[in-house]
Amino acid sequence: MSRTFLAIGECMVEMAPSGSGTYKMGFAGDTLNTAWYARKYLGNDWNVGYFTAVGTDQVSSEMLEFLQTANIDVSGIRRLDDRTLGLYLIQLKDGERSFAYWRSQSAARCLAADRQALEASLGQAGLIYFSGITLAILPADDRLTFLEALRAARKKGAQVAFDPNLRPRLWEDAETMRACVTEAAGVCDFVMPSFEDELTHFGDADPKASVERYLAAGAGAVVVKNGPEEVLCARQGALRAFQPRPVSTIVDTTAAGDSFNAAFLAEYLKSENLEAAVAAGAGLAGRVIQHRGALVECLESV
Ligand code: ADP
Repeated sequence: MSRTFLAIGECMVEMAPSGSGTYKMGFAGDTLNTAWYARKYLGNDWNVGYFTAVGTDQVSSEMLEFLQTANIDVSGIRRLDDRTLGLYLIQLKDGERSFAYWRSQSAARCLAADRQALEASLGQAGLIYFSGITLAILPADDRLTFLEALRAARKKGAQVAFDPNLRPRLWEDAETMRACVTEAAGVCDFVMPSFEDELTHFGDADPKASVERYLAAGAGAVVVKNGPEEVLCARQGALRAFQPRPVSTIVDTTAAGDSFNAAFLAEYLKSENLEAAVAAGAGLAGRVIQHRGALVECLESV
């Protein structure tokens, strides 16, 4: 198997308030978070790449530099003259955060428009990771192209992992979201949802119902995260539950699921041991939520 971990999706500009009307610029996105943690967790014998589309402008170049500094391979990323990065602004009111987005014309929405470029990148990967947000931002035809490219990569031996990350506001409607996520699950070796999303948007009674629904859709294995509750895993007919270690001081749960997925997959790629993979995922997520922000340098004690 190729030792390339390829994450696919949208990385946005993040503007975070830094006091008295000023903002600090950063880069963020669910699949990027997973790539960033996978890079920390996988050994140097693995290449970790990110696939998306960006502009040719300065802020797009800065984003690529940010990824390269994190030792993430950007060689497959497409650059488009007439687009730029999506952006979101974090708004603070009485200590509560809310988000304003400018992403409807982002370059990343075109990431599957060039089928050849997409297939060329996917064709090099041993593990391909994407999310429901990756699917949501694509035009409907490009979603089909994307799923076809995943099928083709799988035929060449790649494994595919998917976090449904259900965000109905990014989709044209909730019915399309549910149909497309279900179809995508059918081309995946690992489907890694968070139960809260599945309860809200699919009406699953419990994590076992989510497992059964995604297995019925054709997923190879299903790993249901559920905050501090048990992680439920199903593979090859066996259903197993693992209890994450309790975390007493939770500072910020941003990227809990993204970091879990990274360490889970990295450990699974190394050992093929489901129990060790869940322990790694929960161990990393448990540390990430004890710090502020999505990208936390906290691996030394994993
Ligand atoms: P998401 O961030 O995608 O909503 P979850 O909230 O389900 O994901 O959390 C992902 C993982 O993070 C969990 O499976 C668990 O390992 C860890 N985690 C999240 N919240 C807690 C918590 N309160 N205590 C311990 N671990 C947690």
